[in-house]
Amino acid sequence: MVLYSPGRTTTYPNTPPEKGIRYHYLGGGNEVGNVGCVFEDSKGTKMLLDYGLAPTDPPKYPNEAPPIKDAVITHSHIDHLGMAPWLCANHRTNLHGTELTSEISRMMWNDCYKVSRIEGYPLAWDKRDIDEAMSYWNTHKFDEKWHKNNWNLQLKKAGHIPGAAMLNVETDTHKLLFTGDFDTRDSPLTSGAKPIKTDVLFVEGTYGGRDHPPKEETIEKFISKLIEINERGGTALIPSFANGRTQDLVMTLHKYLPDFDVHVDGMGKHIAKLQLNHPESLRDPNALESAWKWCKKVSSKSDRKKALNADCIVSTSGMLDGGPSIWYLNRLRDNIKNSILLTGYQAKGSGGRMLLDKGKIPIWGNNENIELEINQFSFSTHAGHSEIINFAKDCEAETVVIYHSDSTNARPELAKDLESNGHIVHTPENGISEYIE
Ligand SMILES: [Zn+2]
Ligand SMILES: [Zn+2]
Repeated sequence: MVLYSPGRTTTYPNTPPEKGIRYHYLGGGNEVGNVGCVFEDSKGTKMLLDYGLAPTDPPKYPNEAPPIKDAVITHSHIDHLGMAPWLCANHRTNLHGTELTSEISRMMWNDCYKVSRIEGYPLAWDKRDIDEAMSYWNTHKFDEKWHKNNWNLQLKKAGHIPGAAMLNVETDTHKLLFTGDFDTRDSPLTSGAKPIKTDVLFVEGTYGGRDHPPKEETIEKFISKLIEINERGGTALIPSFANGRTQDLVMTLHKYLPDFDVHVDGMGKHIAKLQLNHPESLRDPNALESAWKWCKKVSSKSDRKKALNADCIVSTSGMLDGGPSIWYLNRLRDNIKNSILLTGYQAKGSGGRMLLDKGKIPIWGNNENIELEINQFSFSTHAGHSEIINFAKDCEAETVVIYHSDSTNARPELAKDLESNGHIVHTPENGISEYIE
């Protein structure tokens, strides 16, 4: 575990590069999540992009950040902002992002803190650092230009989740574009990211080597499975991530199964309220509003009991690591008419992963056999392989830096196809400085 002593363990060089741009991944260079990237020009203007952690068991943390005045937080997922309170407490770093990202951040940090207590793993920041971090937010509207010394900066819509931004930077010598997590395809909540002409594209490569099946196909399978469960008299438990996935699914259910009795539980309820206050970050604010009015929000113990008779329950945690979804699973598991529909990535060490691999899951401390039918659907809002390749081409990027990507499987496939399209490709490693002339 890294419990940093400020300024002593950072591997970042303390003088600017002689020319061009230096970039240096503290984390997320050759792995998914855990992101932190410092970039700097020869005049010493520098910035940090994201500072997250990887919510694996045990969690992973990026290397220690050098003292730095400004950090851009692309979006409100924990693998991109989980360590930001440490930055503010130790380096008084200003956090830059969209208003919605800043509003959701408090909830994500509180949840991260709570999970660290329950799971008993150490965190490099304390609960009081959350309040302090909130006071370091500088919010920017999409497309609005702002400055840092000799740099022009701009947040552009990234798709992925509401409030998620790509960072567009113009230095004296280069144009840089960081995608953060992005998707060029529309989702119920967000419109797809649009390409921007740039010199150097830093692109997330989560789905390198894999293409998504057409969205309509996934939705059709998901809906017909729900109808099948309903017709046999069962309840469908749909574990979902709180930030993005829960709302995307409620909108999908509202659109295709308006007669269904859908109950929603967990942190996703609070996040939806914040999203509704930011129509500028939504593809179709009215669609979210009417879907949200339509579903039943669980807010008490008796609501929770009522939900057990629903057609479907959308609830956190999305990886069946505690949260109300475990409470529901425990009550629903005795009736094999019921079913579990997983809707996202199930990380190593998570309850969902154990369920898929071994048919068991820890409930209140015991590993219980689960006889229920388990289905898995991919509702990813990350660009797939072809979307990444096309985006790089449309950005006319001379150099493409692939990060937030598995370096053994996903990244080599992307590197190969990007190189054959004529891009210069960088595949950074954590803790090593790279240079762009
Ligand atoms: Zn991510
Ligand atoms: Zn994300």
